[in-house]
Amino acid sequence: MPKEKKPKAKKQFELKSPRGVHDIMGEEYFSYQGFFEKAEEIALYYGFQPIETPILEQEELFTRSVGEFSDIAQKEMYTLRTRGGDKLALRPEGTAPIIRAYAEHGMHTRPQPVLLYYRGPFFRHDKPQRGRFREFRQFGVEAIGSDKSIVDALIIRLFLAILEEVGITNLTVDVNSLGDKECRTEYKKALVAYFRKHTGKLNTEGKALLKNNPLRLLDSKDPVICELKDEAPETMEFLQGPSKQHFKEVLEYLDSMDVNYRINGNLVRGLDYYSRTVFEIVETQEDAENENDSDEKEGEKKKEKKEEQPRALELGGGGRYDLLGKMLGTRRPLPAVGGALGVDRILMHEKVKKLDPRIIKKPKVFFIQLGFDAKLKSLPLIDNLRHAKIPIQQSLSKDKLSVQLASVEKLGVPWVIILGEKEVIDGTVMVRDMHDRSQKTVKQEELVTYLKKHIARA
Ligand code: AMP
Repeated sequence: MPKEKKPKAKKQFELKSPRGVHDIMGEEYFSYQGFFEKAEEIALYYGFQPIETPILEQEELFTRSVGEFSDIAQKEMYTLRTRGGDKLALRPEGTAPIIRAYAEHGMHTRPQPVLLYYRGPFFRHDKPQRGRFREFRQFGVEAIGSDKSIVDALIIRLFLAILEEVGITNLTVDVNSLGDKECRTEYKKALVAYFRKHTGKLNTEGKALLKNNPLRLLDSKDPVICELKDEAPETMEFLQGPSKQHFKEVLEYLDSMDVNYRINGNLVRGLDYYSRTVFEIVETQEDAENENDSDEKEGEKKKEKKEEQPRALELGGGGRYDLLGKMLGTRRPLPAVGGALGVDRILMHEKVKKLDPRIIKKPKVFFIQLGFDAKLKSLPLIDNLRHAKIPIQQSLSKDKLSVQLASVEKLGVPWVIILGEKEVIDGTVMVRDMHDRSQKTVKQEELVTYLKKHIARA
């Protein structure tokens, strides 16, 4: 008799969010909200305007822009095919969508540069780890339509202003210039020639990078590559005429603003679209500052400590991308510069101030109702309070006084309005001050005035 096939055990469905993404709620939600409000306010002060692009874009927008051989395009992009056959992607970054929007809406007719800021979620299928998620939030800015060095400096200054305002002050800007197309080509050749001399030491991944995307070798965490990198040619040696002058000016602007920067000749930021200025903002690492300590033993100790320390997380980064417009098909060249701050990482930082959003998150008044007639009267009364900008917490779905009062105690709300059957008949409410438990009957039409007078001192 043929053996009956056992039905496959169905995998238990777990009510759990996918790996690398998470819910944001409670105090954390308000911190994000507070951060975005602060960042937007500062960006508006600097003359930037908001834009929100869709989370879904054509996949090709990104493969064309970030580069076919970049990590993003090779392994980090969430892509999908629609029933109609369109290839779409969850946006892994914000710059290409904004250039798409600039071209699509003919923003070249506006005064240039067009200054835009954006906020929202981005998606990269990377290995989740400290400060690295698969869904993360960025606050970004783009200045499109100018090649002037002052705009590069403006963006760096704007990011520093945001970080300083939220409480992170010990920052270093790593800055470099990749030069224009010609400088980059020459530099790439020199870099490939250098690493070719050492191919024997490279692992398979290193060899693949050397073949397909040699600049990415400089972002590698592989210890062998890191060591080789120290002797590798630096982009700066290849800067010519206008690019050299441009970088010099950027540094002069940073000097004039007392920005704490260091030139990092190995900083390339691995995406094809960058040209000229690239930058990253990291927290200043104390030990790195004291590297030239004369006491050798101390120096050794510090070195060990530094190796134990996790590398400072990059809080933001960006650069100039004068070639991106053409890569995406704009008719004219479109010089532009921008960058993004990693909001999740910033909010994980221990020095970040508690950022209260403008929306009131903790109402000072709790509304209690007793009986059906009171329930009927409740919604219009709450609406009146809303018109008067007095937010409340409520327990409309509850009936018993004791249950409703328990919520008040739990939430620590200082004022309570009680609407019972007697009050409905009298056209009044009872207002209880939770500090001393005193109560006062107030006419419903005088409630707003009464609360405004009293809750301010709560
Ligand atoms: P990028 O778009 O790669 O230039 O990143 C800009 C900033 O976003 C970085 O400096 C990080 O702070 C943040 N960021 C990038 N990737 C992630 C990620 N997977 N998870 C959390 N933050 C990220």
